[in-house]
Amino acid sequence: MDEVTGAQLIAEALKTQNVEFMFGVVGVPIIEVAMAAQAAGVKYVGMRNEQAACYAASAVGYLTGRPAVCLVVSGPGLIHALGGMANANMNCWPVLVIGGSSDRNQETTGAFQEFPQVEACRLYSKFSARPSSLSAIPSVIEKAVRSSIYGRPGACYVDIPGDMVNARVERNRVREVSCCPPPPVSLAEVSAVTQALNVLKTAKCPLLIIGKGAAYGRAEAGLRELVELSGLPFLPTPMGKGVLPDNHPQCVAAARSRALLQADVVVLLGARLNWMLHFGFPPRFSPNVKVIQVDLCPEEMGNNVRPVAALLGDIRAIVTQLLEILRADQWRYPSDTAWWSTLREKMASNAKISKTLAAQSAVPMNYYTVFHHMARLLPTDCVIVSEGANTMDIGRTMIHNYLPRHRLDAGTFGTMGVGLGFAIAAAMLERDKQTPQRVVCVEGDSAFGFSGMEVETMCRYKLPVIIIVINNNGIYSGLDSDTWREMERAGDMTTLAPPVTLLPDARYEEVMTAFGGGGFLVRTPEELRSALQESLNNTHTPSLINVLIEPSSDRKQQEFPWLTRSNL
Ligand code: ADP
Ligand code: MG
Repeated sequence: MDEVTGAQLIAEALKTQNVEFMFGVVGVPIIEVAMAAQAAGVKYVGMRNEQAACYAASAVGYLTGRPAVCLVVSGPGLIHALGGMANANMNCWPVLVIGGSSDRNQETTGAFQEFPQVEACRLYSKFSARPSSLSAIPSVIEKAVRSSIYGRPGACYVDIPGDMVNARVERNRVREVSCCPPPPVSLAEVSAVTQALNVLKTAKCPLLIIGKGAAYGRAEAGLRELVELSGLPFLPTPMGKGVLPDNHPQCVAAARSRALLQADVVVLLGARLNWMLHFGFPPRFSPNVKVIQVDLCPEEMGNNVRPVAALLGDIRAIVTQLLEILRADQWRYPSDTAWWSTLREKMASNAKISKTLAAQSAVPMNYYTVFHHMARLLPTDCVIVSEGANTMDIGRTMIHNYLPRHRLDAGTFGTMGVGLGFAIAAAMLERDKQTPQRVVCVEGDSAFGFSGMEVETMCRYKLPVIIIVINNNGIYSGLDSDTWREMERAGDMTTLAPPVTLLPDARYEEVMTAFGGGGFLVRTPEELRSALQESLNNTHTPSLINVLIEPSSDRKQQEFPWLTRSNL
């Protein structure tokens, strides 16, 4: 009699659904699931915390369009993963969380790590279910994988009671389920496309905004043609960076505030009018701005600003529709308009300010100097992972992306602690390629702390990630070590130390050397350049470069304060 265990059924179902990676932290009751997954040819990556495991799995989903699994134990294991599920769902990234849970026969006694897991996951997912029997496992997993990538992508949860893992069933009693095909693709309504182009052609100050939906939807080739054929200025959102290269002559990222404020027609290409785009409201946008939306989620249409045209469907397909008409019409936005002049003028003056800040020779360095030197050494094809407040905001403007899906950051949910998990995911995908690209993880010192122990994971799998910790001794800003010591002498730090502070001059690079990776402590541009060059030359082990910067270093003067009421 041919029997299979629950663990084997899960593993085989994942393999059938083309799931390539499983990230997790094992324990009772799911060790056998990880082992069965390996036996079935799914790569298992053991992480140090479920949150980071879930971040990693979701990044694979974003980068490949097929979900990876995050495997967790019951109770606390699952609860730790909720952060990753929420982040994935907010970002519209597919991920499949599989959680072990307590045995089904302990309703009255109470069980080890008992928790209402299916219910808890509902808030953070599109689909959350427990198979009713072993034979239901393949179809529940197929449904979870399918739900995670069809429609607006997101997180899905499958609950596996401990007693199902090693239970057996005859194979011929299990219904086979084949691999779910990629999501069906739909075009936008023809009348909406015509309406969009009519409005666009009359615009004086048009602007294309390219979001991470365009990156996820792999619309880069069509979008490049659209941009170049139409002559329109474009602005990437943080993770829309690289869909077209940041140094493209029509990229107006360096004049972001002005472009948003003065645009009269905005085309949203896989981007939402949420807080990241200031809701599309004044004073950041013109009160009369006309919005053309391209999105695959109907509920997204009309959020905050009612669009003049709602192009519902797959972005890559819709870009093709737009291109067909543009080609036939031979329409092109002129390059000598007042709009282009104002954008170019603003870009030039902003570039000058950054350049002045970057050229400052003081040590400790400021953010601009650090990023200036980094940007000159980093290969153009590297994957940039970035998080931290100033580190991410300033880094975004100074470190260019040249390829799509090569930037991963705190995203829609503004989550700190995602960096190392994302970097591990990206490095795992690169490892399997013929010419792997480097993964560079640019972290604030606070952001690094959330998942710092994942350095051990990087060392264990010999992933040549370069972590650069921009260390300003705190969250937003910190104290220098003299002031810190004076404060310690004056009294109790729990009442005296500003809540934003962290230990001054902390030796984060030693976390890396503890596990056999390369560690560098740098203070000057020369030290930074040589540490980065050495790390780039080392393609076998990870490195951590701890850059001690001026603890009070800040962003240059901003026209609009960040997220203040007057902003909303
Ligand atoms: P950003 O942070 O770059 O502004 P968001 O995550 O806010 O991006 O928005 C991305 C949007 O893209 C979401 O509304 C999502 O529904 C949409 N989207 C995702 N994939 C596709 C696709 N293939 N075609 C069209 N829209 C997509
Ligand atoms: Mg900091």
